[in-house]
Amino acid sequence: MAKNLEDLADHLKGKFKGELLRPADPGYSEARRVWNATVARHPGLIAQCNGVPDVQMAVRAASAARVLTAVRCGGHSLAGFSSCDGGLVIDLSRMRSVVVNEQARLVYAAGGCLLGTIDTATQQAGLVYPAGVVSHTGAAGLILGGGTGWLTRMFGMSCDNVEEFTVVTADGSIVRASARENNELFWALRGGGGNFGVVTEFALKLHPLATAMLGSGLCIKDEIFPTMRYWRDFMPAAPDELKWNLSLRVMPDSAVPDVAGNRAPVLSETIAWFGERRAGQRQLDHVLSVGNPIAVTKGTIPFLELQTMADAEFPHDRRYYTKSGYFKTLGDESILQMIDALSSVPSVNSQIELAYLGGAAGRVGPSETAFGSRDAPYIMNILADWSEPAEDAENISWVRNLFAKLRSAMQPGVYVNFMSGDEEDRTKEAYSERWDRLVSVKSHYDPSNFFRLNQNIPPQSAERISLK
Ligand SMILES: Cc1cc2nc3c(=O)[nH]c(=O)nc-3n(C[C@H](O)[C@H](O)[C@H](O)COP(=O)(O)OP(=O)(O)OC[C@H]3O[C@@H](n4cnc5c(N)ncnc54)[C@H](O)[C@@H]3O)c2cc1C
Repeated sequence: MAKNLEDLADHLKGKFKGELLRPADPGYSEARRVWNATVARHPGLIAQCNGVPDVQMAVRAASAARVLTAVRCGGHSLAGFSSCDGGLVIDLSRMRSVVVNEQARLVYAAGGCLLGTIDTATQQAGLVYPAGVVSHTGAAGLILGGGTGWLTRMFGMSCDNVEEFTVVTADGSIVRASARENNELFWALRGGGGNFGVVTEFALKLHPLATAMLGSGLCIKDEIFPTMRYWRDFMPAAPDELKWNLSLRVMPDSAVPDVAGNRAPVLSETIAWFGERRAGQRQLDHVLSVGNPIAVTKGTIPFLELQTMADAEFPHDRRYYTKSGYFKTLGDESILQMIDALSSVPSVNSQIELAYLGGAAGRVGPSETAFGSRDAPYIMNILADWSEPAEDAENISWVRNLFAKLRSAMQPGVYVNFMSGDEEDRTKEAYSERWDRLVSVKSHYDPSNFFRLNQNIPPQSAERISLK
């Protein structure tokens, strides 16, 4: 271990209430595991905090010793920002307390909560917090970057539903940020990622909901293109209660009835409805009448089931690479390029995901939060998913090649939570006209860029600057 890391470990020993893990310690291998195997790293020290004082102590000590520091909630950063080689990981996985205030429709979630931790607690009161679609994702990373999911059109992004953040900043202070206090920080934390400090608690707004109506189907062969065009034209006027998501992929022929040949291209569609039942039935019937889908399912699903149904599709320890972006309008040419790319996809697990945002998320003004690009509602994520390190190059190239073809038709901008680790140059693009304001907030709260393992917004100088 490097000298300054050794000093740091010695300094924390005895005072730190949680667990300090070094590479030779039992439990280290499990603790260093992150979701994406391509970005697995070997930190010199993992500090599993048992509470806010532990977080403060770790931040102060690492900052004084100038040790490279990562902050970890769920470990799902596609880019691998919640770990590092040789440095410190401030790991919040022991901080998962959740307190629901049913009356006020708020939940107080500690900084290490997974989405499933929050859903399980809030559903006991018949309430929901709008977040992502896989329950083992960390809430902190998702909320700080923006947060989209089944309920985005109904209730807005995850970051639109935060009442207050409690943050340990780079000097170890505890700062609260809400519409009432430190509102520049409050603005920046809603989309600006992990740049400003360690969030130890989120106060989150809840909404009543216990079930959803859910439909699914697979469009094949010549039905794929017209169905995608229909979806493109239909969604801008669709009601907020409707979420119709698409995924283009190939499947083994055995999984697709009536299709001969291996790797059949399919358009997999999932449709969720969160409103009145009869209207929902009509919407589901209508959507599933388009494109002659096969393997159709329709029914009602408990919210917790909806939130966990994709968990197994995105397991830990596989290799993932992504490129993402927005379209203001989705041209026929772009749709055809996506479909065409399936003929060369190296892995059957890879997919091109498409969702339409809009709804409540689209009605939030461009300067209300740091989250960007609400005026380009079609969001696309090209996600390669494979197992063997020897296949890295061809899977990554497939994503890059398709992205390069689509790029000119896309709106500049990107959702920071869907960025890979080699896309540093796109961080400024992600925030566009919000960039300078974010730099000011960063310069005030983290002038030495202590929190730099993220989609980084570098401070202006190493001097703390004051905010207007
Ligand atoms: C399987 C899977 C499904 C996903 N589904 C969705 C989805 O439905 N919707 C969506 O919007 N996104 C989704 N994402 C993307 C997801 O939002 C990001 O990967 C997000 O960063 C995950 O958060 P995390 O806490 O697990 O990440 P981590 O890897 O722990 O951290 C990510 C970043 O946040 C910082 N950070 C973590 N905790 C804190 C904290 N307490 N305070 C300050 N900074 C912190 C880290 O330093 C790092 O920079 C998904 C990702 C995966 C892998």
